[in-house]
Amino acid sequence: MAVIAGNWKMHMASDQAIEFLAELDLSGVSERHEILLFPPEIYLAALATSEARNPRVQLGPQNIYWEDEGAFTGELSARMASEVGANFVLIGHSERRHVFGETDEEVAHKVRAAQRHGLVPVVCVGETLEERRANRVEEVILRQLNAVIDDLSLGRALIAYEPVWAIGTGETATPKDASLAHETLRERLSQSLGTERARSVAILYGGSVKPSNAGALLSTANVDGVLVGGASLDPRSFAEIAAAAL
Ligand code: PEP
Repeated sequence: MAVIAGNWKMHMASDQAIEFLAELDLSGVSERHEILLFPPEIYLAALATSEARNPRVQLGPQNIYWEDEGAFTGELSARMASEVGANFVLIGHSERRHVFGETDEEVAHKVRAAQRHGLVPVVCVGETLEERRANRVEEVILRQLNAVIDDLSLGRALIAYEPVWAIGTGETATPKDASLAHETLRERLSQSLGTERARSVAILYGGSVKPSNAGALLSTANVDGVLVGGASLDPRSFAEIAAAAL
């Protein structure tokens, strides 16, 4: 089973979003695979109730706040997202961490809030180019994982390894780079959750995934799926990526 997830970031008009669902042809994608979409949150309710949505496509917001309600202008709670049809949520995406200054501690709060409301968190981790050049990949991704690891035993959770230097740049980690990072994450998960449970935590790779490299990445050891940004905006390329999962 592989997880194919699309992160639309702050893209798409509302009619384009519905059109995407109508055009997404999953007939070449094995039923064993899970298909997730993370649209701008304003479109969640319309996409969740759209007749154009293949029921295989599950939805989630790209971020949440950890309180359920209150004087938090501009924020969205896990409860609200869940009420309008979300089942998953992206947490700690590198743009949240690096553009908006989200900390490991905030990421952990958000993971707990997601779990309280039955949303499956997809926790993103990954090093910057500077950190990679300084040989700090392991240190950084383990620090980010350790911040949430105690919460991962509370319910289903996914991890996305997304090297920051590969996001939206056209640069992709080699299958070997991805495999090493995923192995590091899997080992830490095993230490904390036990081998069996650790195996059930899907670790996705993200960073310039496209139809031409999806097959190689998806057949790499310890890569259980992909998180796709730019190439998820086109239903044909997203379906092609999903079809590359065996
Ligand atoms: C992402 O947004 O998570 C991502 C991996 O983007 P891209 O595929 O465009 O690099």
